[in-house]
Amino acid sequence: MIKRTLFVFDFDHTLIDNNVDTWIMSVHPTLTVQKDMHSLRKRYPCWTDLMDHTAGLIHDKGVSKAELISHVRQAKLYEQAHKAITAVGKARHADAIIVSDANTLFIEHILTECGVRQVFKDIFSNPAHFDSTDRLHIQHYHSHSCPHCSANLCKGQVLTDYLNSRPAYSKVVYVGDGKGDYCPALRLSDNDVLVCRKGYTLAGMIQDNEQSCKAKTMVIDFVESLGDTIISMCL
Ligand SMILES: [Mg+2]
Ligand SMILES: [Zn+2]
Repeated sequence: MIKRTLFVFDFDHTLIDNNVDTWIMSVHPTLTVQKDMHSLRKRYPCWTDLMDHTAGLIHDKGVSKAELISHVRQAKLYEQAHKAITAVGKARHADAIIVSDANTLFIEHILTECGVRQVFKDIFSNPAHFDSTDRLHIQHYHSHSCPHCSANLCKGQVLTDYLNSRPAYSKVVYVGDGKGDYCPALRLSDNDVLVCRKGYTLAGMIQDNEQSCKAKTMVIDFVESLGDTIISMCL
């Protein structure tokens, strides 16, 4: 049996050069979430709860479902991300999944807008849906006891569970930038590859704890060369 490579992508600041959650805070000119961030973070220590609250504020402003979705869809993938995804999609012995702390609805819309949804076998993120009044709701992905991760999502647990249920993968390439990507990075083996975004939190955390990650680590400028890096791994 030919062993396959699993490419695991984070979403915010990895496939888009932005954070889709903060991106939607500009959907209406009088939304003050960014301005009130300090006090809101005190009220909502969990980011997902803050985003659900923000979705309520957006609804209160009278932003329709169609307007919100159209705004989300403008948060496009950058060129090298598109190139990376296309390369994995064409590779014969590789699959791709997304593990993200954004939400399923925003990710699905952006990937569909950019014509690459079909490349991803699975998307693991916080569940989101519109209710009958067209108010968006965002929920926690799961509960867990991992000390590294935020209350709503342990990406490391998602990765471990995925690999345990799919023994066909002999190698993982994990691509990410943030604090939430540190836990899965610690679970990689010496046969895996960790691709970190240069100048972002994950790269710094790995640098400060060099022995913690067994995988071969690469630190690169995503906007400049993510696509070219991934292409070289698909050959
Ligand atoms: Mg990220
Ligand atoms: Zn964790």
